[in-house]
Amino acid sequence: MTGETEAMTNFIYNMIKEDVEKGILGDKCVHTRFPPEPNGYLHIGHARAVLLNYELARIFNGKFNLRFDDTNPIKEEQEFVDSIMDDIRWLGADWEDRLFFSSDYFEVKYEFARRLIKAGRAYVCDLSQEEIREYRGTLTEPGKESPYRSRSVEENLDLFERMRKGEFPDGNRVLRARIDMASGNLNMRDPVIYRILHASHHRTGDKWCIYPMYDFDHPFSDAHEGITHSLCSIEYTDHRPLYDWIVDNALELYPEAVKFHSRQTEFARLNLTYTVMSKRKLRRLVEESFVEGWDDPRMPTIAGMRRRGFTPASIADFQERVGVSRADSTADLALLEHCIREELETTAPRLMAVLNPVKVVITNWPEGETELTEMDNIPGDESASTRTVPFSGELYIERDDFMEDPPKKFFRLAPGREVRLKGAYIIKCEAAIKDAEGNITELQCTYDPETRSGADTSGKKVKGVIHWVSVEHAAWIKVNLYDNLFTIENPEEERDIDFTDNINPQSLVVCENVPAEPAVAEADPGSRFQFLRKGYFYYDPHPTSGEKPTFNRIVPLKDSWAKIKNK
Ligand code: ATP
Ligand code: MG
Repeated sequence: MTGETEAMTNFIYNMIKEDVEKGILGDKCVHTRFPPEPNGYLHIGHARAVLLNYELARIFNGKFNLRFDDTNPIKEEQEFVDSIMDDIRWLGADWEDRLFFSSDYFEVKYEFARRLIKAGRAYVCDLSQEEIREYRGTLTEPGKESPYRSRSVEENLDLFERMRKGEFPDGNRVLRARIDMASGNLNMRDPVIYRILHASHHRTGDKWCIYPMYDFDHPFSDAHEGITHSLCSIEYTDHRPLYDWIVDNALELYPEAVKFHSRQTEFARLNLTYTVMSKRKLRRLVEESFVEGWDDPRMPTIAGMRRRGFTPASIADFQERVGVSRADSTADLALLEHCIREELETTAPRLMAVLNPVKVVITNWPEGETELTEMDNIPGDESASTRTVPFSGELYIERDDFMEDPPKKFFRLAPGREVRLKGAYIIKCEAAIKDAEGNITELQCTYDPETRSGADTSGKKVKGVIHWVSVEHAAWIKVNLYDNLFTIENPEEERDIDFTDNINPQSLVVCENVPAEPAVAEADPGSRFQFLRKGYFYYDPHPTSGEKPTFNRIVPLKDSWAKIKNK
């Protein structure tokens, strides 16, 4: 994991360091947590929060908890819990034995709520949702007190208990914190802390029909677990006074249930160009079949990026380069792609595959003969050794490496022109054979025996070098070519139309029958390659369909980020 240098320079690291040096933590170590709601898959934005929390704990020899924030039974499912754990593990963050669920503390939280009631700091309110909103006031007007605000402690305790017992229907009444209806912060105007919801929970079943609200649940859970630094995204800034109110009260009224006065610190959310990141939108993409699932390789989900072929290291590298700040920003997808290219450049073995093949027949090749050529697996890396690639008189090359009527600067194959076949010979195109519709079906070429790669005595100079696959020896694979899921840079910002209107219809192009050199047949699912001139590819271990080995293009070779950088 490479997060250290980044974490060393970010403002949260500096803040924690200061806390440690000042002895604010007492005998506690730095303790962070990642608190996902299991209502969808994790995305690359969540990866920032996971890595930030995990890395900070690691650097300070502290602890990192995984806590599912499962207080909304309607949207939450076990499938999401499982995928989230799997993705966090894959990212390299280790919660050791500290896996928790907010629902583990429902009983303690109920008791805390009772203590708030007893202290006159919470009350059962019978106003409807709309009335509560109306009474809340606005930023410029103070709120109005609920007529139920002055209920006696006894009545409140009784009603709250009956809420729990299921005596009232959904939405019939709520428990509210009794704070300040004139507060300049709307979150402090007697926020709702419990609601009635007769819904089965994925862990507690039908045991509860009242559920705590996030703003009550989250700070209490943090303090209960002894989280020292509660890091969250910037939209919670206005909730911080309420966070502190809950923790202060927990410490005062229920000290045996809390281990530490956790402190909340906010950081900017990570956004990415050419994609959407809100779970609601990602869910729509899945439910309305714009993609094949949460783990579709075009999705910005961790599961999707895994299937696309990204590595944990490339994601950590990306996070490190983007950095953490308080100001919202949108990171460039090109930078993420640059990170994986940079990694694979020196680690991915090379192979040849022809995505859109046309056949070449070498008319002067000795019939039936096969010649073996030696090629570097990773150029410049001797430890990666070489592989042998069979060459014969019938080959596939890319259809667009031939042009019948080429412009002057086309340095590949054309009638009467020469090109080098990578690692083999220079060939010359003598004729293009066509079918009745005029489509080229075969290119007849001759080779020059003097031009063997590495033993060229011909003195010929050709500019173009193209890849090829021997027909007889080809291994057949399926290739998925991915492009951006959206055609515009900021699909989230488009207000006037539905975001799905900007989906790129070309985001997936499938090549069903791709000849590749035979080494592909021995490759392990889950491995990554550079297909010469075509990009970096991932051997998908769990393709959605098809019998053939499936290779997903992670990224093409052209690095637009490196270009920007070098300007
Ligand atoms: P939604 O998209 O439904 O608002 P969410 O993305 O906030 O939900 P959670 O499961 O609550 O989903 O997120 C878990 C943690 O990840 C939270 O602490 C949240 O602050 C953080 N997080 C979520 N999205 C991002 C993001 N884009 N960048 C950084 N952190 C994020
Ligand atoms: Mg959230």
